[in-house]
Amino acid sequence: MPQIVRVALDSNLPPLQWPACCPECGTTKMLEKMTTRLGRVKSVPSTPAGGLSIKNEVMYLTYFICPDHAAETRWANRLLEKSPVMYLLRFIFYVGTILALALLFGPRRLANFPELGALLVLPVLGLVGVPSLIWAHMATSLRPMHFDFEHGWMIIRFRQAPYATKFRVMNLETTSSVNTEELPWFKRKLVWQLALMTVLSVAMIYYFESLVQF
Ligand SMILES: [Zn+2]
Repeated sequence: MPQIVRVALDSNLPPLQWPACCPECGTTKMLEKMTTRLGRVKSVPSTPAGGLSIKNEVMYLTYFICPDHAAETRWANRLLEKSPVMYLLRFIFYVGTILALALLFGPRRLANFPELGALLVLPVLGLVGVPSLIWAHMATSLRPMHFDFEHGWMIIRFRQAPYATKFRVMNLETTSSVNTEELPWFKRKLVWQLALMTVLSVAMIYYFESLVQF
């Protein structure tokens, strides 16, 4: 069972500690260091907390993983990364899937395929992209789900519960509920991102429909 752990990012708290074992299989041999992008920060602290590193004002999470599980977690986290390029790519995947569904099940259907020309790339990308995003959600062993540096917290999803427990025990203070207060829903970025995605998807579909009519 995956575990979701809230972590406080506060320079007054002890630095983050990472278990010296693979988050997937638990092995302690041949471990390598993996970095996963957390997000951009506006003000860089002079001494970042343990297990965090900063390059060009982008903050990364650094933890140990075995070579057998490094590749899939790296690929999965890249697909789910919170960077402008990956946000755009995922948006294209979602729009493409909506278009693919419209073409397969919509009123004007497959007859429109030849007229679409280069636009056909979109539904194809969607049909490949969305399954790979679903794969990524299942395959990643350790993934930062949310990162809010200004309010001082992040959320990490661990695929394996025993590893999550180890992590909590090593970071009792930073993961305690006293230090990781929840934000009200309207202050969460995700709510507004979802709303924006919906509006943009609907606008794209209308635009696409108007193209098909000519
Ligand atoms: Zn492993």
